[in-house]
Amino acid sequence: MTQPPTSQRHALAEPARTQAFIGGAWRATASTFEVRDPWDRSLVARVADVGEAEAREAADHAVTAFATWSRTSAWEKSAILRRWFDAILAHEGELAELMAREMGKPVTEARGEVKYAAGFVEYYAEEAKRIHGETIPSQFAHKRLHTNLKPVGPVYAITPWNFPAAMVTRKVAPALAAGCTVILKPAEATPLNALRLVDLWQQAGGPPGTFQVLPCLDPVPVSRVLINDARIRKLTFTGSTEVGMRLYGQAATTMKRLSLELGGHAPFIVCADADIDAAVAQVAASKFRNAGQTCVCANRIYVHSDVHDAFVARFLLAVEGLRVGDPLDPATQIGPLVNGDALDKVVSHVDDARAGGAKVLVGGATSGGSFYAPTVLTGVRGGMKILEEETFGPVAPILTFTDEAEVLRAANNVPVGLAAYVWTRDLGRAYRMSEALDYGIVGINDGVPATPQAPFGGVKNSGLGREGGHWGLHEFLDVQYVSTVIG
Ligand code: NAD
Repeated sequence: MTQPPTSQRHALAEPARTQAFIGGAWRATASTFEVRDPWDRSLVARVADVGEAEAREAADHAVTAFATWSRTSAWEKSAILRRWFDAILAHEGELAELMAREMGKPVTEARGEVKYAAGFVEYYAEEAKRIHGETIPSQFAHKRLHTNLKPVGPVYAITPWNFPAAMVTRKVAPALAAGCTVILKPAEATPLNALRLVDLWQQAGGPPGTFQVLPCLDPVPVSRVLINDARIRKLTFTGSTEVGMRLYGQAATTMKRLSLELGGHAPFIVCADADIDAAVAQVAASKFRNAGQTCVCANRIYVHSDVHDAFVARFLLAVEGLRVGDPLDPATQIGPLVNGDALDKVVSHVDDARAGGAKVLVGGATSGGSFYAPTVLTGVRGGMKILEEETFGPVAPILTFTDEAEVLRAANNVPVGLAAYVWTRDLGRAYRMSEALDYGIVGINDGVPATPQAPFGGVKNSGLGREGGHWGLHEFLDVQYVSTVIG
């Protein structure tokens, strides 16, 4: 394998926090695990490796803190969340650099993720004050009916490595705003953003036990303790469909509330009447963001045969212009994949497509370390792995279509349904197609629809529930109905 592209790196600071955060205090553990930089596999940090005993202790703290936090006034919770938001933004550069080092996200893009992550905290700081029940008319003069919204209880949250900050705040901010306490287990590749975020929560005045972070190399023992603990009332998970399905079963034994944000396989449909230049720019943004490692990345690009050649010619220019390099260089657009396993999956998908007759127009090879060159494939056909599994890499497979009904059938013909995109200037077609797409999120002439105030989530094997907006808050609230006879 060739060497990764070279760069002059500045002296890097030690990560500020590497211990676990339990019951409002930093905790060293008997063993640690390594976080390595995907850029050159250098050691970024040795991080506390918690086990079952610490998980049990964290559960006790979460239960104790819940008694107080659930009764803390909305104004006080809101003020702490607001200070947390300010603190995150004040540390944007540090968090982004940490992200670039722990998982290879280009630092300019990582700065965008920190702002997006902070956006959830800002939004739920405001929404904390708007959690209210309803009155219901009664058919009887002597009865009054109303509802209260109550926090579900202590929460166990599990997050993936591909958004080390935003997946944390998208869960933790609404949970805290609702009055829940949270135990977070970050992905083993990316515990450092989560640890710095909880550090900032504490500095913002977050009380002990309200938000705890348990880094660990093996997620199973810690998760078993917390999922089997009936006092933990909610499990919120973002990650692969395979793991999400397993956790769904485990959570049944304690009847937990559940949110599952799982995998996707997004179709990107470019109709004959599309603005081709805008579509090219947005496919590139959707496909190559985070080196293709997002759950809403375009995975199948369907282009109408009338505009196929024009689209491909302009798309190739855009892809050839992408800057691959050191994630710490602000000019870099594509960094390394997170690790060797991720690279192997991308290689296997491209090799399989090539063997089945697909043409590689650009890329199609590793480019040193865990880098994979931005790649465009044409001649992709049903049955190829790339159309059936998430590639999670910088590979754009292009297919053609001629008929709206045909492309909708193809787009829906997968077991998942997270995000889909349609490019058209015809308003009627935009409505028709968005209604026919079996997806939780549809972008019409928009390749990046996610925003904190809107619902994010999928149908079918893409999961259960929604994050963001008031939907994300209600995932952490139970409805209590009260009927009062007034005499
Ligand atoms: P993953 O399922 O391997 O891991 C996710 C998390 O689950 C990690 O924290 C991991 O430690 C933990 N985990 C793994 N096995 C576990 C087990 N047996 N018990 C308890 N915890 C366990 O997924 P990943 O590779 O980290 O993330 C990529 C996946 O996440 C992709 O499928 C992507 O589409 C999905 N994703 C979905 C969304 C969404 O909002 N829908 C967002 C980002 C990523």
